[in-house]
Amino acid sequence: MGHESASNKSYTSSRTWYCHNCNDGPLNYNLILSCPICDHQRCEFCRVVKVKQPSTH
Ligand SMILES: [Zn+2]
Ligand SMILES: [Zn+2]
Repeated sequence: MGHESASNKSYTSSRTWYCHNCNDGPLNYNLILSCPICDHQRCEFCRVVKVKQPSTH
């Protein structure tokens, strides 16, 4: 049995969120702190979605 090391695989995990006020999205979690449509600031009721992408070279 060969166990391959996962150290070679790198995943870029990013987060997006959806404004709970006007449902706009997906919005970049790191870059966008408030909704560009309704100017609602991200709060605990806004939906945050984790996106996992394999990083490609
Ligand atoms: Zn909004
Ligand atoms: Zn909200």
